[in-house]
Amino acid sequence: MTGRVYLVGAGPGDPGLLTARALELIAQADVILYDRLIPSTALDGARADAELLFVGKEGGGPSVPQEQTQQLMIERAQAGSSVVRLKGGDPFVFGRGGEEALALRAAGVDFEVVPGVTAGVAASAYAGIPVTHRGLAGAVALVTGHSREDAGESGNDKAGESVDGESSGASGSAIDWSALAAFPGTLVLYMGVRRLEQIAASLIAGGRPGSEPAAVVEAGTLPRQRTVTGTLATIAHEARREDIRAPSITIVGPVAALAEQLAWQGPRPLRGITVAVTRARAQASGLASRLEALGASVLQAPVIRVQPLPPPVRASSDMEGDPDRPTIDPTPYDLICLTSANAVSALFDRLDDGVHPRGDARALASARIAVIGESTARALAEHGVVADVVPERFVAESLVQALSEIPISRALVARARHARDVLPDALRARGVQVDVLELYETVAEPLSPAALQAVRAADYLTFTSSSTVRFFLQAAGGGDGGLSAATRIVSIGPITSVTLREHGLEPHVEGERHDVDGMIDALLEDAAGKAGNDNDERTGKAPGNHLPL
Ligand code: SAH
Repeated sequence: MTGRVYLVGAGPGDPGLLTARALELIAQADVILYDRLIPSTALDGARADAELLFVGKEGGGPSVPQEQTQQLMIERAQAGSSVVRLKGGDPFVFGRGGEEALALRAAGVDFEVVPGVTAGVAASAYAGIPVTHRGLAGAVALVTGHSREDAGESGNDKAGESVDGESSGASGSAIDWSALAAFPGTLVLYMGVRRLEQIAASLIAGGRPGSEPAAVVEAGTLPRQRTVTGTLATIAHEARREDIRAPSITIVGPVAALAEQLAWQGPRPLRGITVAVTRARAQASGLASRLEALGASVLQAPVIRVQPLPPPVRASSDMEGDPDRPTIDPTPYDLICLTSANAVSALFDRLDDGVHPRGDARALASARIAVIGESTARALAEHGVVADVVPERFVAESLVQALSEIPISRALVARARHARDVLPDALRARGVQVDVLELYETVAEPLSPAALQAVRAADYLTFTSSSTVRFFLQAAGGGDGGLSAATRIVSIGPITSVTLREHGLEPHVEGERHDVDGMIDALLEDAAGKAGNDNDERTGKAPGNHLPL
């Protein structure tokens, strides 16, 4: 049976702009052929056994030839696979999707096209530029600024100006610039800035007024998005002065001036800064998205993975039932302590008071619940349970203090294997009968040499627990991890800092509250201090018409 090929648009870069259909198809695909300009998280939902093939161009290097990509797609589909061909933006807008569809039709392979949000419209919108506007623009032209010759030159591009597969598709040499100069509406130019000067000159020569507003949007919809505004006569110069790089689009027309009034994105104090995140992938998304919202480029480098402990769990002698599916009966306890969001989900998986259905929160009705950390409290709230005790500081010592006035006779502490014994010891010291339930453990996740190299080049390296420190150093081959002096080490709080120092690393930044928000606050403060000294683009003080987007 022949499989099917889905030509899928992945949108301009913001993972939120992937369509529901794209996500659905990515999740079921046997094979995914993808380009460089797809959202960083686009493949997260792919099946673990899916074949993921990169067919784009890496850093301006040679791309997989178009014919080879098409051949691969056809072969896999003919072998019965469900193939997703994932492209940046929309597959039929300068994406060579049309050519691929023709090749599939010729080979007799079924296909489906899933449109995507195209960069020209999305990057404009994120910069506050409506591509049409009543009274200002009644038409919009999407134009490629690449010429056929660019394909051969692109090896010199710093960031790969001519982009995967698109450069020779709609030949720029066929564009009639004087006709476009007369086009009665907005021009949206897809290309890097390299040819901008020449194109602007051609448009002006064709009669387009040099005074017409123009804007360049770099990395539209991505955390590092930047907008430079000017006029058709000045825009190439402005873009060069601001060192605008690919991917970027240029908007020419009166609507470009609306960016001044309509720019809607908040300040991006971490723009241009790379932050490496070492925590487990499953836990990293909240931290990563908050950093990205602040403009940081986030490097996901998980060094740990959370693994539920194989049953039977070591726990109180009261545990009964099927040894392969051990349950936890919370009814004997008047206090239940949960030390992490992982502990919450592991507890609910096994919760059973013998009265309510398994996992039913009502089983916890008679116990007081204490948690460490706001994220633990949030995870609990998702199960409809509000924590009774959340200490101010998110460490065990603080919880011990918060519990000091509360009468307790029997407590359950649900936590990770090899966790610190501060809490159970302190409770036992006051005569409380304590059962410790180790629900999961943290295991090493290997870091590829490329990921390690990228981490070593990051501006900030974050550690959100002692185990991230230990496992990072293990992955980095021991010693001090081979970090450069320029990389600033960020610790979520004092306990993680102690572990760092034990390994000879001095944290440059330390959160006060031992939670992710506190760590981000400290990082922001550090970055602001650094920016003050550097006076580089991160300060947002660069000269020119640089909108602080
Ligand atoms: N099919 C894609 C376009 C591929 S052509 C789409 O519909 O969006 C590649 C060009 O798109 C780049 O050279 C750049 O001009 C533009 N582009 C892609 N992603 C972009 C982004 N996030 N911001 C600005 N321009 C982008």
